Amino acid sequence: MAWKCGIDGCGREFEAVEETIVHQTEDHERHECKVCGTIVPDGFFAIRHAFDEHRRAEFMRAYDADSSDVREREDVKEAIESEADLQVVVDRLDENGAL
Ligand SMILES: [Zn+2]
Ligand SMILES: [Zn+2]
Repeated sequence: MAWKCGIDGCGREFEAVEETIVHQTEDHERHECKVCGTIVPDGFFAIRHAFDEHRRAEFMRAYDADSSDVREREDVKEAIESEADLQVVVDRLDENGAL
């Protein structure tokens, strides 16, 4: 199964989910959380931040999102968290000096 970068129609595909997250972190602009203003890498880390740190209602209000937007992001987050070895991602970013 190929993983596709879903940021702004980027569409690049990767064989490993870890590579996708490294790509999102290194090749895309950082994202400013609309709820609290924290700067986070776009893509998976932005989604994880939004749902680990904030309530769904806050997310929906700040992003003008509806419940299907929320469900879509929660599905992505779950799929990645069950598949990805985040330590591999962190190690790689560390090696590349991206953290
Ligand atoms: Zn991308
Ligand atoms: Zn936030």
